[in-house]
Amino acid sequence: MIEKHFSGTGASTGLHVGRAIIVGIIGGNMREKLEPEDEKSALKTAINDAIASTGNLIATLGGAEAEILNIQNALLSDDALTETVWPQIEAGVSAHDAWHSALDIEIAGYLASQDEYFRARSTDLIDIRDRVSAHFFGGPKPLALAGGEIIIAHDLAPSLFMEIEWSHGGGIILGAGSTTSHVAMLARAKSIPMVIGVGDIWKDLHGTILMDGGQGSIIENPSSETKRLLSSEIKVQSSSQAREIVAEDDGAITADGIKISVMLNIASLDDIATINANVCNGIGLTRTEFFVRDAIFHEDVQFDRYVALLKWANGRPVTIRTIDAGGDKPLEGYTSPREANPFLGQRGIRLSLLHLDIFNIQLRALLRAAAFGPLKIMLPMVTRPLDVEDARAAVSAVKLELLNAGVPFGECELGMMVEVPAVALCPQIFNVDFYSIGSNDLTQYATAASRDNGDVADYADTAHPGVMAMIEHVADYGNSAGKPVSLCGDAGSDPHFIHALLKAGIRTLSVPPAALLSTNAVIRSLTLTERI
Ligand code: PEP
Ligand code: MG
Repeated sequence: MIEKHFSGTGASTGLHVGRAIIVGIIGGNMREKLEPEDEKSALKTAINDAIASTGNLIATLGGAEAEILNIQNALLSDDALTETVWPQIEAGVSAHDAWHSALDIEIAGYLASQDEYFRARSTDLIDIRDRVSAHFFGGPKPLALAGGEIIIAHDLAPSLFMEIEWSHGGGIILGAGSTTSHVAMLARAKSIPMVIGVGDIWKDLHGTILMDGGQGSIIENPSSETKRLLSSEIKVQSSSQAREIVAEDDGAITADGIKISVMLNIASLDDIATINANVCNGIGLTRTEFFVRDAIFHEDVQFDRYVALLKWANGRPVTIRTIDAGGDKPLEGYTSPREANPFLGQRGIRLSLLHLDIFNIQLRALLRAAAFGPLKIMLPMVTRPLDVEDARAAVSAVKLELLNAGVPFGECELGMMVEVPAVALCPQIFNVDFYSIGSNDLTQYATAASRDNGDVADYADTAHPGVMAMIEHVADYGNSAGKPVSLCGDAGSDPHFIHALLKAGIRTLSVPPAALLSTNAVIRSLTLTERI
């Protein structure tokens, strides 16, 4: 087999060799189109299978959820839904494409309705469309991976990343993507090499792939000579070894003796499983939209996980951000599926305040856990002082509830992310105990360059003087008002930005575990005081 070389943009460093697994292609790309009669049968089978597959679920769920599936199945059984599909198939369109285009027209019709009820029903049609679609390919199924494979796709949702078992390593190659997307951030946190922006060649990659997530290079069918040349580097860069090295590091003081606190950004308990807490200054960001993604309705499950963090941290502060869903982090049944501009829509604290039931569950779990150590609650995407006031009111109400019920709880500091430019310009108007600058979002909003669009990655530059001025402004305010300011965006672990951030007055960085070592090393090499 011939060795072939391709390149993209490195989004998460590390070398990896593994089997290529293409995921996420549906429709004409992967399915052979048959004769019209066979295509019609394929669609009928997919519809029947989609109905049958919900049988067990309906029996076990019961209640309102079963009712929704029953309504969807009634829609699926209604001939009216498919009446425009059959002529398309007869005209030569594939069953899958005909199904999609007919359903897309229906969905658009529902969405355009003046009636809120009908608009809301569009979600059921989307669900139905995708469920039948999946049954063209044997039904929705989790990826069956042995471990160590390289996942190749046009793009990858953060939720899919979370479903994959990465303990044996692996890699990611994307046709699209961006270095500041959430999935790239998750990959970096888990030391999973990732290359993005390879274009359409992703569809053709197969066999054994050697990838370099730092250089953005990909070698398909690497020769034994190539593998031999790189084998020692691959070994050293394996994620487990990187994690072990972390335990040997000894903190961050600049060359001229200024102590910088370095904390960790985490998204799961796995992220800290092999790390000793004494190598860092605690947890600066817990992304609970991932950390308790499966437990947003389960107070006790959340409580156990928060307590596990506090026990691990052993007296060091643990900053837990309330659910920051929305944007490129959809959460089924919680975020709105139909926003034209999700990054500017219902995100973070805005959604928590809309779903007070879910917010209260999280606050109860957080306050109960706070009895076990220094837990700090952090609010994402705060924009108005009212957001903080409403959140404070919710915290007070939950405390009263716990007090009345005799449930033990602890006191927590309440802080906020600084991600919105309007906030960075006037941090003093917010009644909070601490600030953490989310440079990923602050940069995308300030430079008008979407963090999930690789084509504008050069514009989304945290070093832009306008962005740096905002960071400096927040740091200056925090330092003068005696309110801690940290920075937990990706810039905090990027060697290109660390010096400028420290010069701007930042003294606490929160970084992915895999970047702790390199961040400390960069800090140790820097001098902050001016020499004459
Ligand atoms: C940020 O925006 O910089 C941040 C840390 O939050 P997230 O990346 O989770 O949006
Ligand atoms: Mg953010």
